[in-house]
Amino acid sequence: MMELTSPKTIRYIMEKYGFSFSKGLGQNFIVDGRVLERIADGAEITSEDCVLEIGPGIGVMTNVLCERAKKVVAVEIDKRLIPILNETVGHHHNLTVINADILKLDLPALMAAHFEGERVKLVANLPYYVTTPIIMSFLEERLPIDALVIMIQKEVGERIMAPPGSKTYGALSVAVQYFSEPSIVTKVSRGAFMPIPTVDSVVLNLAVRKESPVKLLDESLFFAVVKDGFGKRRKTLLNALSSGRLGLSKPEAEQVLIQAGVSPSARAETLDMNQFATLANAVFKLKQA
Ligand code: SAM
Repeated sequence: MMELTSPKTIRYIMEKYGFSFSKGLGQNFIVDGRVLERIADGAEITSEDCVLEIGPGIGVMTNVLCERAKKVVAVEIDKRLIPILNETVGHHHNLTVINADILKLDLPALMAAHFEGERVKLVANLPYYVTTPIIMSFLEERLPIDALVIMIQKEVGERIMAPPGSKTYGALSVAVQYFSEPSIVTKVSRGAFMPIPTVDSVVLNLAVRKESPVKLLDESLFFAVVKDGFGKRRKTLLNALSSGRLGLSKPEAEQVLIQAGVSPSARAETLDMNQFATLANAVFKLKQA
C-alpha cells in the first residue's frame, strides 16, 4: 500500500502521470498524516456515516474517510486526477469518484442519487473561491447533511467564528452561525501541505442546526437586513438601512430601529443575531402595514 502522505509518493505520482500542481485549482495536498487523523476525529465519522468529499486531490483524506465511513462520494474537478485516484484509493469498495465541478452540479440531485435516507457529512479542502459559495449553497438550500467539515484559510475561519463586536464579525458570521454551530477542529500550518501555500488554514466543523436559533417572520428579509446593515461598514445603521436594497426611507429606517430597541447611530458590527432578528421582524411589520 502506498504511503499517501509522503512527499516521495507525490513525486512518484507526478513523474508516473506527468502531473503538475494547478495553482488555479488550489492544489496543495496534505502531507501530514496527523492532520488527517485530527480532521477525521473532529468530523466524528463512524461506520454509520456517509461522506461527500469535495476535492479529493490524490486521495490522502479520501483514504482515511473510506476506512471509517459507510460510504464516500468524492467530487474532483481535475480529470488528470481520476486515474491517479484509481491507483491510490480505487481499492476501496465503498468509494465513488465523480469527475465534476462541484459549483456546476445539481446538489439536491447529487444528494438524492447517492445518499437517500443516509446520515451525511461533507468534508472539503477547497480553494478559497469555492469554499464560501459551497458552504452557503449547502446551508441555504438546506441540503440533507448533518455537518460540514471544511478546511479554510485561517482568516475566513476567523470571520465565520467571530462574535458580535469583534473586528471580523460580518454578514458571513451571522449567516453561517444562523444555519450552523461552528467549532474549530484544528489549526493547520502551511507546512502540512505540498506545495507549501502562502496562508495558514483552519478546519471548522459546522454542525447544521435542526431549528432556527431565532424567531423570524420572514427569513429572506432577515438576510436582506443583515446584508444592508453590513453593506457599508463604518456607516450607522440608520444610514446603512436607508441606502440599501430594502428601499427604506430615513424616517422608516429610524422607526424600525427604535421599535427594535436599537440606537439609530449603532453599527451593524455591534448587533447580535437576536437583535438582527428583532430588527428584521420590525421591517416585516412596517412593510405589511
Ligand atoms: N483533499 C486533498 C488534500 O487535502 O490533500 C486535496 C485538497 S486541494 C487543496 C483542493 C482540491 O480540490 C484539488 O484536488 C482541486 O483539483 C479540487 N477542486 C478545486 N476546485 C474544485 C471544484 N470546483 N469542484 C471540485 N473539486 C475542485
